[in-house]
Amino acid sequence: MSVKIHIPTALRAYADKQEVVEVEGQTVGEALNNLGARYGQIKKHLFNEEGELRNFVNVYLNDEDVRSLKGGKTAVDKGDSLMIVPAIAGGAPPASPLRADAPAASLTAEEIQRYGRHLIMPEVGMQGHKKIKAAKVLLVGAGGLGSPLGLYLAAAGVGRIGLVDFDVVEFSNLQRQLLHSTGDVGRKKLDSAKERLLEVNPNVRIETHEVRLDSGNALDILKDYDIVADGTDNFPTRYLVNDACVLLEKPNVYASIFRFEGQVSVFWAQRGPCYRCLYPEPPPPGLVPSCAEGGVLGVLPGVVGALQATEVIKLIVGQGEPLIGKLLLFDALKMEFKKLNLRKNPGCPVCGKNPTVKALIDYEAFCGLGKESSVQQESAVPELTVQELKKKLDKKEEFFLLDVREPHEYEICKLPGSKLIPLGQLPQRVSELDSADEIVVHCKMGGRSARAVQFLLQSGFKKVKNLAGGIDAWAEEIDTSVPRY
Ligand SMILES: [Zn+2]
Repeated sequence: MSVKIHIPTALRAYADKQEVVEVEGQTVGEALNNLGARYGQIKKHLFNEEGELRNFVNVYLNDEDVRSLKGGKTAVDKGDSLMIVPAIAGGAPPASPLRADAPAASLTAEEIQRYGRHLIMPEVGMQGHKKIKAAKVLLVGAGGLGSPLGLYLAAAGVGRIGLVDFDVVEFSNLQRQLLHSTGDVGRKKLDSAKERLLEVNPNVRIETHEVRLDSGNALDILKDYDIVADGTDNFPTRYLVNDACVLLEKPNVYASIFRFEGQVSVFWAQRGPCYRCLYPEPPPPGLVPSCAEGGVLGVLPGVVGALQATEVIKLIVGQGEPLIGKLLLFDALKMEFKKLNLRKNPGCPVCGKNPTVKALIDYEAFCGLGKESSVQQESAVPELTVQELKKKLDKKEEFFLLDVREPHEYEICKLPGSKLIPLGQLPQRVSELDSADEIVVHCKMGGRSARAVQFLLQSGFKKVKNLAGGIDAWAEEIDTSVPRY
């Protein structure tokens, strides 16, 4: 019976650098013994003096740990694969950072010390580090994903790092955006990001672009970079970055996060599919909540942004298999990764055979977020301000205050006398409201409550108004003791 054994990177040097070795054996133990017989050096890594499998080595038969089966006595079948998974530590043994034959011309002595752990890996080495130093990478967004991306790329010594952002640091950013500290609240993200990245590595050049990326400026900004890393939080910018990368023939290292889940891919139309091949059209506005509405686990962008940074470095040094034509899904709750195959769509409007998008378009309109539609929405919903609500409450006017947020948001803060009916339950629970009452509806910022007002007006309610700016505006302008989240 012949069985395939996957040799981990750490042990490959003892098996003629082979990734997979085919050996004979009826059981796991026999197969491993035959591997040891063929490659004497690997044997002492796998077995102790008594011939037992060492504790820091796990052996998986297909997806199962053989310890949970019958250990070495587990029978193997034709076509089975064994995987050796040894424990590995993050550190590397001290060694000369420079191999004798490697040219050192372009790195200073300080850089050689700094990048020593890269230089001693043949996959990176001096040649790879020269590429890293020469590389120009643009990060779209200096927030959740931009933080690990920026920190790792700066630490790795990527020569030029561009940052596009126009936001100001808020308290609610600090839970995940490690580029910014408590003292940075109120500062421009670009200022605190640049400062932090230069602290990490003063050898890199940080270029800041304080703009909202749009059809008018995107090509001009992107054209100077080798790789674009998309870490934005909105659909118009995602399509804009994708199309600009396709037109400029640049790889777009993509990641997105929501609550407990992340996605990573490398879109590069010259070598595989683009974002539009995967998602030809954006979801209608309001269908997919943003992180501001739906929340995000603080550590999630750390994991996903680090994966994104890994893909950037792989592309720069030209090693490994980039996620071109693959979509990596990460589920932090299940702690599960899945890799799906993506195909290039021959009918893709931007990278297909007969593209219809040959220049950048109006992405706000494409995503249904045009100025006209938002003006229409606003004018369609009667509103009152937080000051007007305060007067009503002070005068003890009779009215019904409806909160359409979620119960866990209601627990954080609430307005006095409000009743909670989450937006999703409103259609079933509308009978709890009296259409004769004057009703003021609020949510966190005013978006969900505007939809609730629209629904109630369509259901025959006449005296319904939306609280502009929601409880957040109330906390900012009326009662600062109400926590903002
Ligand atoms: Zn495409």
